[in-house]
Amino acid sequence: MKIEFSAEDEAFRAEVQAFFAEHLSEEMRAEAAKTTTVFAEKELAMRWQAILVEKGWAVPSWPVEHGGTGWSVTQKYIFNEESAKAGAPGLIPLGLRMLAPVLFKYGTDEQKAYYLPRMLSGEHYWCQGYSEPGSGSDLSSLKTSAVKDGDDYIVNGTKIWTTHAQFADHIFCLVRTDPGVRPQAGITFLLIPMNLPGIKVDPIITMAADHEVNQVFFDDVRVPQSNRVGPENEGWTVAKYLLEFERGGGAASAGLRVALANLKAVASKELDGGAPLIEQPGFRAAISELEIRTESLELIELMNLARLSRGESPGAGSSLVKNTSVEINQGISTLKLEAIQYYGAPHANLISLNGYTDPWVGPDYAETATPRYLNARAASIFGGSKEVQKNIVAKVVLGL
Ligand SMILES: Cc1cc2nc3c(=O)[nH]c(=O)nc-3n(C[C@H](O)[C@H](O)[C@H](O)COP(=O)(O)OP(=O)(O)OC[C@H]3O[C@@H](n4cnc5c(N)ncnc54)[C@H](O)[C@@H]3O)c2cc1C
Repeated sequence: MKIEFSAEDEAFRAEVQAFFAEHLSEEMRAEAAKTTTVFAEKELAMRWQAILVEKGWAVPSWPVEHGGTGWSVTQKYIFNEESAKAGAPGLIPLGLRMLAPVLFKYGTDEQKAYYLPRMLSGEHYWCQGYSEPGSGSDLSSLKTSAVKDGDDYIVNGTKIWTTHAQFADHIFCLVRTDPGVRPQAGITFLLIPMNLPGIKVDPIITMAADHEVNQVFFDDVRVPQSNRVGPENEGWTVAKYLLEFERGGGAASAGLRVALANLKAVASKELDGGAPLIEQPGFRAAISELEIRTESLELIELMNLARLSRGESPGAGSSLVKNTSVEINQGISTLKLEAIQYYGAPHANLISLNGYTDPWVGPDYAETATPRYLNARAASIFGGSKEVQKNIVAKVVLGL
């Protein structure tokens, strides 16, 4: 099967490559390559965001009048692909790619005028308050309550696994405004500044020793009703719309190809019985299997792209992309850990967390392997767990 992009699209690709060559510094690429968590470091992501904002390329999917590029679906795919190939830091999607589409569809004119420019400039940094202890996959069972009092809601409850809440100055939250109806019917979508009295953020340190997620507590937090997005008790519709963007497509295969090339380079340096590990048949076969799966992932991505170009939704295609890309990424991180062997034991994050400041003793390429291996396990859960995605594929693709 031969897939070709049009001459116009290839010219666009060349323009994107030239921009990255000029504006994405070696220093930023090196910092991005050290990322071991789901999101890039906030400071790095915001630095890259400012560069893209200046060029007008930060938010391709936004309406042009708000800063979007007006690119075709294919151009957006090419941009994502080239970003991954160039090793650019990912932009933090919570505001730009998750909340923003919700505001375009359900926000008031005042909300759009206030929040969107601040999101773009980096003045506002968002986090997502959906999950609660006991309400993850079964999200509609959430209990955080919002009770009307004058012009405000009084919010009480807790959100968990809140990524980057320690940096965020705003949180978009699902709250229960009517406990007396079926669960989906009593939910409201609220925008909450994190500096309001009664909000507390506790860190959750993962087994990868990183601080990426948190638990957020709300104790009688007074939130103006004007911070509601969409009608009261219709937040479930808003919430589901946002999830389409959280799980939406992209060009994961391009990033996985970069990771596979990196794995092969490591396996060429590490020895097995005196010969490079990459020459060992078992290891080669394991890498080949991941390469073949990456090829098939790219085809699924291109099929999704074709659907989007025709104005259709990717449907269960985004569940296939999510599960396949997560499994390949986990496979790569597992082989990398096998390749570096004992350098995987005392991994750098744990050492620094325990207060030691000794420099890393292994080869450069081994430094991030263990935290990345551990962090990659979380991908089976966040953004809709692997089993939940399989349920969707079983229903929609297989008709079971
Ligand atoms: C690193 C990380 C970052 C996150 N960031 C955020 C964030 O910023 N904001 C936010 O709101 N949430 C966030 N989450 C939470 C995430 O969305 C939930 O963890 C996820 O929805 C699963 O919910 P749960 O943890 O309650 O697990 P559960 O829903 O209790 O699931 C436990 C297990 O049961 C399985 N299971 C559940 N239901 C079914 C079913 N119907 N059929 C088959 N199997 C099932 C699951 O697949 C899983 O293996 C994050 C999670 C992680 C790990």
